Amino acid sequence: DAIIRVRDITVQFGNTRVLDGLDLDVKRGEILGFVGPSGAGKSVLTRTIIGLVPKVSGRIEVFGVDLDAASSAQRRAVERRWGILFQQGALFSSLTVRQNIQFPAREYLRVSQRLLDEIMVAKLVMVGLKPEVADRYPSELSGGMIKRVALARALALDPELVFLDEPTSGLDPIGAGDFDELVRTLQRTLGLTVFMVTHDLDSLYTACDRIAVLGNGKIIAAGSIADMKASQ
Ligand code: ADP
Ligand code: ADP
Repeated sequence: DAIIRVRDITVQFGNTRVLDGLDLDVKRGEILGFVGPSGAGKSVLTRTIIGLVPKVSGRIEVFGVDLDAASSAQRRAVERRWGILFQQGALFSSLTVRQNIQFPAREYLRVSQRLLDEIMVAKLVMVGLKPEVADRYPSELSGGMIKRVALARALALDPELVFLDEPTSGLDPIGAGDFDELVRTLQRTLGLTVFMVTHDLDSLYTACDRIAVLGNGKIIAAGSIADMKASQ
């Protein structure tokens, strides 16, 4: 039961082939850790799945919808079911926490300011932050709080699927461990499916159900941590 199905995709910038006939499934309800050397194309794959990078060939389905064949209304319906935490520019620095979290809801929902505020507070609480931080700017938050607010924004539309690009980068080990635990809890309580790009070995061990390794533009290994150890 795949939420994301990637088949034989090739992505190229000029003459440089970054993804080369790559196949990958992300199953419903799993936390997939996506790893590989720096520059291997992890961010490129993430951005290709969400439709920000054009591919030379191949097919991608999310929630069973082929986004290339989808109408713009179908595409919006799919976008409404996922949340994204980008590594860079995780938050808009000129917007408050409130405005950051409400950004996707303003884009995709037509609801009153009062309901937007209720959604925002619920999401702050969900990620372990106090509602009092709502009117702060990102520059007034710690690194760990920024990641949590970015996660709250990714959760704003009650997604079934979230993309997390290096969510623990820049956090100390304790902060990173807390974040991983939070992701695990959300998976359990909300049934979230998580596609997580990471360099963090602790995250792979504590948060991920399965790992896929990118190398030479393809998935060169995939399985649980136990499988990976056994095959070494
Ligand atoms: P990773 O996330 O695994 O560290 P990236 O996906 O960021 O790697 O990048 C993979 C390769 O694709 C790198 O060589 C990068 O420079 C290149 N790349 C990424 N985006 C672009 C782009 N828009 N134009 C040209 N090259 C790009
Ligand atoms: P990340 O660190 O999140 O993987 P990158 O630093 O690889 O992100 O990329 C940041 C932005 O720059 C992205 O939009 C990416 O497409 C673009 N980019 C990365 N490498 C290149 C490149 N060699 N040429 C042009 N654009 C690039």
